[in-house]
Amino acid sequence: MLELDGSQGEGGGQILRTALTLAMCTGSPFRIESIRAKRSKPGLLRQHLTAVLAATEVCDAKTNGATIGSQSLEFIPGKIKPGDYRFAIGSAGSCTLVLQTVLPALLFADGPSHVLLEGGTHNPFAPPFHFLERVYLPLLARMGAKVSLELKRFGFYPAGGGTISATINPVSRLEPLELLSRGERRSAQAESFIAGVPAHVAKRELEAIAKAFGWEDEQLLIRGLPNEQGPGNALFVTLEHENVTECFVAFGEKGVTAEAVAKRVIGQVRDYTATTAAVGPYLADQLLLPLSLAGGGSFTASGLTQHALTNIEVIGKFLPIDIQVQRTLAGDHKFTIETSHQ
Ligand code: AMP
Repeated sequence: MLELDGSQGEGGGQILRTALTLAMCTGSPFRIESIRAKRSKPGLLRQHLTAVLAATEVCDAKTNGATIGSQSLEFIPGKIKPGDYRFAIGSAGSCTLVLQTVLPALLFADGPSHVLLEGGTHNPFAPPFHFLERVYLPLLARMGAKVSLELKRFGFYPAGGGTISATINPVSRLEPLELLSRGERRSAQAESFIAGVPAHVAKRELEAIAKAFGWEDEQLLIRGLPNEQGPGNALFVTLEHENVTECFVAFGEKGVTAEAVAKRVIGQVRDYTATTAAVGPYLADQLLLPLSLAGGGSFTASGLTQHALTNIEVIGKFLPIDIQVQRTLAGDHKFTIETSHQ
């Protein structure tokens, strides 16, 4: 049984989710102590428990410690089962993080699966639905994975109540991916999704973006949503390049001005465009798992985060994979994922 320390590195939910995914895919059981020890409310919150229960259902696992607040867990995976699943997080806990936990395993199942997720679809500190749809899944598709996603209802923090459905077709293997440059810019747009919040908020956010980047009206889109899907506001900037699409987001919050929300996205976009890297910091930590399951690949990233370092640690425990991170001459971080032959 692999032993993991949940307080190591980044010390949040990611160690647990990566371990669940890899245990499902490799069949290796693990025990984790000090779950989310570096968070203000340590242990399994609703969203993490849903990820554990989802993983348990998908591979008929045996568990010990799968309860709210638990700081240790034993997970003994069985065989991955394709099928129709419904996972309700029951709060604004992130649907996308739960989906990302079971998705790689269902790709290696012996039949297609359909997964319905209920909870938050646009949460701070998690990939928003549109990031999965525009950024993460197209790269997985290039590796051979056919996954289709539908946003049935928005779920903003803190009300939640969103729904995502995913159809996952299995693959015999994932192909390695090389993503060393982003290529020529094809398009750039900003969208303000808004539900139950005054329209001037979206307008002011987009004006601030237009001013910062000198963008034209046709690049600025207000996406009005039914009031009952709110209150919520998500400001996206999507940059489509020849080799990769990146997406940056900030969320409207009570007491934070529209201009301040715009400033948060502008900062992320500037950090990315100031480099020549193919991928931004969030995508970097999320690509490590599929590339490791594919047995290889490489990409350049605009930054090296604790999340990425922590994922590298956990992956190394489950798979014979060596991940190197080097600084390029341009100052970007080049990640190289290789099967180790020791
Ligand atoms: P944790 O903090 O351990 O729950 O992990 C959060 C995960 O969500 C990481 O994989 C992050 O890369 C991802 N994430 C957080 N914020 C964003 C964002 N704005 N866009 C895309 N992914 C994100």
